Amino acid sequence: MDVLGLADPVGDDLVCSAKGCRETATWGLLWNNPKLHTPERRKVWLACDAHREHLEQFLSARGFWKRTVPVDELERRPEATA
Ligand SMILES: [Zn+2]
Repeated sequence: MDVLGLADPVGDDLVCSAKGCRETATWGLLWNNPKLHTPERRKVWLACDAHREHLEQFLSARGFWKRTVPVDELERRPEATA
């Protein structure tokens, strides 16, 4: 396992994870549900500027939120159509 790449990679389609939102995401919210995931695992939600705070609060309320990074810092899934 790549120690630096514990967050799930994201695809090229960087769309906000908020329900019904089709904005381009500018943030990646890293989170972990200790009941489902190993402690090192980081799930990724994408968020546009408008939904970043809302999604952070949603995850924080459940104790899942770890940190938020610019999408540029997220690991990209290798291009499958090359
Ligand atoms: Zn959004």
